[in-house]
Amino acid sequence: MTTTKTTCAYCGVGCGVLATAQLDGAITIKGDPDHPANHGRLCSKGMALGETLGHEQRLLYPKVRGQRSLWKDATDLVAEKFKNTIANYGPDSVAFYVSGQFLTEDYYVANKLMKGFIGSANIDTNSRLCMSSAVAGHKRAFGADIVPCSYSDLEKADLIVLVGSNLAWCHPVLFQRIQAEREKRGLKLVVIDPRRTVTAEVADLHLPIHPGSDVALFNGLLAELYRRGDYDDRFVAAHTNGLAEALLAAKPCKVQQVAEAIKLDAKLVEEFYNLFAATEKTVTAFSMGVNQSSSGTDKVNAIINCHLLTGRIGVAGAGPFSITGQPNAMGGREVGGMANMLAAHMNIENPKHRDAVQDFWAAPTMAAKPGLKAVELFQAIKDGKVKALWIMATNPVVSMPNSEVVMAALKACPFVVVSDVTANTETANFAHVVLPAKGWGEKDGMVTNSERRLSRQRAFLAPAGEARADWKIISDVATTMGFAGFDYASPSEIFSEFAKLTRVENDGTRQLDLGALAELSQCEYDVLAPYQWGGASPFAEKKFETPDGRARFVATPVKSVAAPVTEALPFILNTGRIRDQWHTMTRTGLAPRLFNHRAEPHIEISPLDAKALGLEDAGLAAIDGVDGGSIVRVLITNAVKPGQVFQPMHWSQPHAARAIANRSTKANVDPISGQPELKAAPVSVTPFKAKWYGYCVSSDRVEMLVAYWSLQPLALGYALECADDGLADDWQSFIASIAKFESGHDEICFVQGANPAQFRCAILRDGKLRFAFLASDQPISVSRHWLGKELGQPLTNPLEILAGRPLQEGRDEGAIVCACMGIGRNTIAKFTTAHPSASLNMVCQETKAGTGCGSCRPEIVRMMLETPQHLQAAE
Ligand code: SF4
Repeated sequence: MTTTKTTCAYCGVGCGVLATAQLDGAITIKGDPDHPANHGRLCSKGMALGETLGHEQRLLYPKVRGQRSLWKDATDLVAEKFKNTIANYGPDSVAFYVSGQFLTEDYYVANKLMKGFIGSANIDTNSRLCMSSAVAGHKRAFGADIVPCSYSDLEKADLIVLVGSNLAWCHPVLFQRIQAEREKRGLKLVVIDPRRTVTAEVADLHLPIHPGSDVALFNGLLAELYRRGDYDDRFVAAHTNGLAEALLAAKPCKVQQVAEAIKLDAKLVEEFYNLFAATEKTVTAFSMGVNQSSSGTDKVNAIINCHLLTGRIGVAGAGPFSITGQPNAMGGREVGGMANMLAAHMNIENPKHRDAVQDFWAAPTMAAKPGLKAVELFQAIKDGKVKALWIMATNPVVSMPNSEVVMAALKACPFVVVSDVTANTETANFAHVVLPAKGWGEKDGMVTNSERRLSRQRAFLAPAGEARADWKIISDVATTMGFAGFDYASPSEIFSEFAKLTRVENDGTRQLDLGALAELSQCEYDVLAPYQWGGASPFAEKKFETPDGRARFVATPVKSVAAPVTEALPFILNTGRIRDQWHTMTRTGLAPRLFNHRAEPHIEISPLDAKALGLEDAGLAAIDGVDGGSIVRVLITNAVKPGQVFQPMHWSQPHAARAIANRSTKANVDPISGQPELKAAPVSVTPFKAKWYGYCVSSDRVEMLVAYWSLQPLALGYALECADDGLADDWQSFIASIAKFESGHDEICFVQGANPAQFRCAILRDGKLRFAFLASDQPISVSRHWLGKELGQPLTNPLEILAGRPLQEGRDEGAIVCACMGIGRNTIAKFTTAHPSASLNMVCQETKAGTGCGSCRPEIVRMMLETPQHLQAAE
């Protein structure tokens, strides 16, 4: 057995992972105790990485117009089409759309080809959707995209303010680090989020502000700190500029006015302001709730302004801290992998920097201006201005706002290339050429996490089929196009070139200096330990990268969201992540246990709105924006306020019928960062009137043409939730159309109720369950987890299957709460009912729930606060 030290494929925490190949070929995953990001911890997604390595949905060889192709032919075609398009229409007629899933070397080569050799800056990335407002905010305040904090600051702080961040679900290991510190000492946690997330539930103070009103809150804080004299005048005088302008913009924000703007009680606002004013060691950590906004950059600067005023930056335990979403969004920023950047933190609008990079690359040309940012790019493709597009390692049909425009653009584009790990994504279905890329575990290179720490992602598996590294695919196309300088033999050569570039035109002026890593041998690169550039506190010397070395306050006038609600679209839609899924589920969608937490696409809606709309818990609802919408399950919860709904962004066609949240969002962008507003789109919500609701488990994948379906992989098959607004003419024919039935081998039993919507059937082969379908005119209540586990098992009593639950007590675990240990609600409820005064630790110890990654602990707390009777009823 060999163990490889690598890093997690998912979020920006960048946890170290130990991947061990077992003798039977399985890969076991553990947290790396030596990695400074996680010290051995992993969350549920990271723990399940070993279950996502199968080849079932992999793209295994190149295809041209749907037909298998040789690599050489596909590469020649891509090179020829790009060359011809550039020759006929100019360099800006082509574009790359890349990904925060890229390793740094992939990003570097793609950026080099587009900016230095094609001569356009039309290369943008899905990181635009994630953290480009933070980048823009950093550049305005500090003169460069530098994250001022490290994870250790979260442990040294006395107050952590989380803004627009459900850290417990989206960056669980960081949250666990904070919680561990909170258990030791009086570290306070404030959460600013319109939703009462699980993070907010365990906070000392939660401010459920009105969506988009963050600037008003932080402008008010700035004005209040100044009015009270709670600021660091020496720091402001010696190290900043622009306070007067920022105060002028913030001045109208008195506490009462702030409270009205953010729609909260003034006492809550006052409480937060008092806490902030009184706590020197304060970290304000922010994430997508801040960035994904039409005023995202101003939100970032409004937060930074408060830290500059109090001098709480560049000191241990204090600072504004952007937590990135993707595993290598930061690496992409370092190599200039966005349309408005140049490599190595140089400025694309600075001719001296452009010349320096061109010289370094010995490039024939250089992009002279910023290129098209993601939303502009897809609009330009739709308008026919961009005629050849290469999408790498991302699925924009699902992840971009206004999916309808993205699909129309891809349909209209004369030449689309998709290089990806997964076959048949919604985006790949539009491609003329698809190229198989190496996936996690197969590829080798560098990633940078949210605290500027570079770590090696290492290969421990042979590539699937004919998959190649992204840097290799890009380099081969570049070479075929006739460009020199892309004959790399390994990622370490590329990294070394990039590290050297960080020294060009630098002379200590840019903190991003990886010169110390420029001469690593292959062996040294292979064993490189995590390396943090800029040190733990890059502003410890109070030197910023502006021309005068001072940080800048930025005036941030309050603006409303780009598209307010209307009479026809009266709800504010907030989209985001859930605990156990990642992005468009191309990887996490392979691990059955990651569906145990939330199995279906859904909206969260308040009890008040649900009642007014006639929505029932576990019923279905149609969510519609201006251009499109989805049908999803209803989850009634007090976590969202009346007038607001939350929809996860993960589900799309492979896993559900019509569930893309971004069909309802609009492409309204922040004018500075170009980041789209994905947290405040106006939508309507209406009940979806189904004639029947069904639940199906099957050893084979089931497909059916109904208005609503949602597929979940199980250990030995699949589960399918389904519903339709028309009744089947004949249930037995319906079953025959979806189930693989072998007469002579299979045995079928069924019951038809008096109500035409009621039907139940089970199919057995050799006495083992291989298919069950249960339908009703109401959202169906069955023991789902138990039923799924019965698949492939010898059946002693088929009546149990038709009943949809075990006939003996104690055999149903209930819905799974702890994905790592497979512990269900019924087990936890049974224990908490018997031991109502048990502590969280005792509940975890005795039931084993929460003893894996710990991501479910906030939900166990929530369960402990609910009545046990309610828990049973919910299941
Ligand atoms: Fe991966 Fe979870 Fe760590 Fe994020 S917190 S890097 S998803 S293990």
